[in-house]
Amino acid sequence: MNQRIALCWMRRDLRLHDHTALYGALTSGLPVLPVFVFDRSILDDLAQRADRRVTFIYEQLGRLNGQLKAVGSGIWGVHAQPTDGWESLLRELEERGYQVEAVHANRDYEPRAQQRDAAIQSLLESHGIAFHTYRDHVLFEPNEVLKADGTPYTVFTPYSKRWLANSPEERLGSVASEDLLGACVRMEEIPWPSLQEMGFEPAHDAAFPSINLDDQLLRDYGAQRDLPAVAGTTRLSVHLRFGTVSIREAMRAGFSHSAKWLTELIWREFYQAIIHHFPHSVEGAFKPAYDAVEWESAGPEFEAWKAGKTGYPLVDAGMRELAATGFMHNRVRMVVASFLCKHLLLDWRLGERWFAEQLLDFELASNVGGWQWAAGTGCDAAPYFRVFNPTSQQEKFDPSFAYVRKWVPEWGTPEYPKPIVDHKFARLRAIDRYKRALKPDQAQPTLF
Ligand SMILES: Cc1cc2nc3c(=O)[nH]c(=O)nc-3n(C[C@H](O)[C@H](O)[C@H](O)COP(=O)(O)OP(=O)(O)OC[C@H]3O[C@@H](n4cnc5c(N)ncnc54)[C@H](O)[C@@H]3O)c2cc1C
Repeated sequence: MNQRIALCWMRRDLRLHDHTALYGALTSGLPVLPVFVFDRSILDDLAQRADRRVTFIYEQLGRLNGQLKAVGSGIWGVHAQPTDGWESLLRELEERGYQVEAVHANRDYEPRAQQRDAAIQSLLESHGIAFHTYRDHVLFEPNEVLKADGTPYTVFTPYSKRWLANSPEERLGSVASEDLLGACVRMEEIPWPSLQEMGFEPAHDAAFPSINLDDQLLRDYGAQRDLPAVAGTTRLSVHLRFGTVSIREAMRAGFSHSAKWLTELIWREFYQAIIHHFPHSVEGAFKPAYDAVEWESAGPEFEAWKAGKTGYPLVDAGMRELAATGFMHNRVRMVVASFLCKHLLLDWRLGERWFAEQLLDFELASNVGGWQWAAGTGCDAAPYFRVFNPTSQQEKFDPSFAYVRKWVPEWGTPEYPKPIVDHKFARLRAIDRYKRALKPDQAQPTLF
């Protein structure tokens, strides 16, 4: 007779401790097999074979697999489109004498992930398998922080007030999933694809930040967070993205040591809520009127931006830091994004896609949110007539040029390029172009 088991489908929660779905599965009374799907609908589109994110995920899953092997179990790895992958997984488990009773997973709020989960849920139901989902990677889900009339917030400050009034401290406790691993299925030869079999190779140039919730770093955060030359932020973003840290662990540190840092974690939940409630903002302007802005076509200026050769040192330093490490400081992300959309008048989606390709911490909701904020097209965005001056941003946030010198060694020599666009001209052109889109009746004849 087949052995009845439960599966835990890991996605953006690559840890064994304080894992809500794993805990739910391990306390369900059935032996549990963890599963990870290397999703070909995502992986096949990646430009780099030595992708840093794939390397990060693969290494982390390798560590978890080692921990599970110690209790005679492991993660069953599938390299396929999710629907095909689940069909073949269920078939193979049946052939090995296992009957899957239930699948447990933590909820994901991105529109594409929700479509995937709906498709897998109906596939599982057609096999008579229950699909249990859990709140795990946020403290409050998109539908738990709403205005009094039940509609979603579109402005951060009232959202965060409501979030804080929801008794978050009651949700900071962890679950003891790691203590229960002995309840995992004991199985020989659990399939695990190699990176090479999936068409990838390790990104040897990748340096992954460690999980750092140091008390002093958090206490100094408010004073240091805007200085790109200083290691004054946590670099936790990749860990929050892939769930190698638990949000409850991070939130506890925020509540204990830094209200300012806690606010950043609330921004993260705000953008999760925005993408869930306003899925159109993945592809189009959050405020649809801004879809009428006439962007310039991408040419040599876009290439200069990507290469960090615009002649604006803070912009160039940021773009080179991104290329070299897969990371960019938040202040600099705002400056380079504003420069692309306002100074070069290039479509924010070009920048959003370039970041998506390059960032180790790429996370759709925060990336789209950040880009639309900078472009002035998003919720709670900087108004379109406010155009960051990249030179004064540099003077204010990197006054000793320490960050610029680190990433642009030829800065200040004849080899360093002249600015590809004049700030005053660019500012007026951007304001004029946005105004034309938003208030065509008030637009004057223009030279731009
Ligand atoms: C144009 C643009 C694109 C961005 N793209 C991404 C992205 O793809 N992925 C991503 O995680 N963040 C993104 N951000 C937000 C922010 O820049 C990064 O989260 C931050 O720089 C990561 O560094 P850290 O972990 O040291 O952050 P810390 O300053 O230590 O903050 C702690 C955590 O709070 C969250 N956080 C901080 N700032 C923001 C913010 N503005 N919006 C949402 N969450 C925030 C992150 O999870 C971060 O790890 C983007 C910002 C901009 C302006």
